[in-house]
Amino acid sequence: MRATALVTGGARGIGRAVVDALAPDAWVAALDVASPTPPAGVGTALEVDVRDPAALERAVAQVIAERGGLDWVVCCAGIVRDRVSWKMSDAEWGDVLDVNLTGAFRTARAALGALRASPRGRLVFVSSINGLRGRFGQANYAASKAGLTGLGRTLALELARDGVTVNVVAPGYIDTEMTRALPADARDRAVARTPLQRMGRSEEVAALVRFLCSDAAGFITGTVIPVDGGQLLGAVN
Ligand code: NAD
Repeated sequence: MRATALVTGGARGIGRAVVDALAPDAWVAALDVASPTPPAGVGTALEVDVRDPAALERAVAQVIAERGGLDWVVCCAGIVRDRVSWKMSDAEWGDVLDVNLTGAFRTARAALGALRASPRGRLVFVSSINGLRGRFGQANYAASKAGLTGLGRTLALELARDGVTVNVVAPGYIDTEMTRALPADARDRAVARTPLQRMGRSEEVAALVRFLCSDAAGFITGTVIPVDGGQLLGAVN
């Protein structure tokens, strides 16, 4: 039977690729602050800001009511506001934590009742390798993404008795609008630091998310899995 899935950040980039990757197996709700288009397969598009707790809870409840449950939740919504720490404002810090970490927690919390009731509950957080190693100019972003690891591992423990798996995916440099906004020389340096010598594609992250949602991944929980072309290995040569 077709699963019911909800993907935040589902309008573009990695989130959109996840929506498309899940489409063959699921009815997918693509939730985004920037008017998402409905999935190519079956599903719906919901315009919601994950910083708005009431709207987020309403949207998740609407999906659960319409579908009679919810099986897979993928938290992909994310932003960057890069600045070196000694110049970073409270707003730059707060916005990033609010969207990337608190938004993911709120999405998960709104879905937990339905996930626990599902026979195939799956929760996936999209973090970043920069949450595992740190990155110059990204104190806010790295802290938010490291926070997803603690959140994901804790929820993995809390939901295990209900058979729900919770995993964290940590992409390296992926070719999306987010990284296209970087100066060309920063992109070139990122590729040079990647052993596979290229940027990743959104579809390559989405393929892992799809696998983690599948029945085949039922014994995998509490993990953090990089999709980074080998960047965490360090030196290229
Ligand atoms: P992107 O900017 O292309 O897409 C992010 C999506 O999140 C957008 O559709 C945006 O509208 C949505 N979003 C932002 N704020 C939101 C909010 N408040 N409420 C709802 N939706 C909101 O970026 P991407 O590269 O596709 O990134 C997707 C996720 O992957 C992010 O969490 C990002 O941190 C993470 N990531 C990306 C890379 C990369 O290299 N691109 C690497 C590591 C991790």
